[in-house]
Amino acid sequence: MTTLLITHPSSLRHETPPGHPERPDRLRAVEAALESERFAPLIRESALPATLEQIALCHPRDFAERILAASPLSGLVEVDADTVMSPGTIEAVLHGVGGAVQAVDEVMTGRVANAFSAMRPPGHHAESVKAMGFCFFNSAAIAARHAQRRHGAERVAIIDWDVHHGNGTQEIFWNDPSVLYASSHEMPLYPGTGEASERGEHGTVVNAPLRAGDGSDAFREAMESVLLPRIADFRPDLIIISAGFDAHWRDPLANLNLKEPDFAWATQQLMEIADRSCRGRIVSVLEGGYDLEGLSRSAAAHVMALMRG
Ligand SMILES: [Zn+2]
Repeated sequence: MTTLLITHPSSLRHETPPGHPERPDRLRAVEAALESERFAPLIRESALPATLEQIALCHPRDFAERILAASPLSGLVEVDADTVMSPGTIEAVLHGVGGAVQAVDEVMTGRVANAFSAMRPPGHHAESVKAMGFCFFNSAAIAARHAQRRHGAERVAIIDWDVHHGNGTQEIFWNDPSVLYASSHEMPLYPGTGEASERGEHGTVVNAPLRAGDGSDAFREAMESVLLPRIADFRPDLIIISAGFDAHWRDPLANLNLKEPDFAWATQQLMEIADRSCRGRIVSVLEGGYDLEGLSRSAAAHVMALMRG
């Protein structure tokens, strides 16, 4: 069985102002790392664009249409203080969501063992009716809902190890016992949500906040004692990873000190749960990661682990 890598050139055409950390070079760095010979066994696909119906799985149609209509013909427009649209943004956003949906299709039908969608902009801060934090539509959330509606998955677990809390994913599934949202993140930090006391209407939100300065030991402890047991007990039909790599020690936006092997370890732990619970089905979606070297090396370690390398 094989690992699928999904990319699309539109990810390079979503432009942000000079000095903005969420920039096209992020994807260039990830794609370059995954060109190396040891990744030759990957199956590679180009992402199709998402449809409005797919986006509407998690975002009201009028909100989605408002975002699509905000696209500028030239220059940049601000959607919130740090979330900006350029003329290429909509194409990137649609393919970003589409890549996550496509990864679900390929994994749920058993054509591949697991998949990584390496696209930008990220999605986990996008709430049902709010674009924020570099995010427009919530690709991981839409992928989870698509797995349920299209492929009959009853329970989907989303694990989010981006250094920022995925407020959008938490908000979208707050009342939904069929989707487990489990997150480790630095607190206090943007966006300010993610206390352990935030558990969702049915106890299917699990937050394990870490403190500035925490590293491998604290992260692995949070995973082993809090997040992984809850995911295993949930017996998911699919595991989705919101794979941000900004908890890496080199990252300029936060203050955790993870190293590449931590991401490989976490990936392996999730694969063991997936092997027992859902025939190994994992879909991973790129979120943040703003130091090009930390991001590309961590993504490579993550994908190598998915390949059982
Ligand atoms: Zn982040």
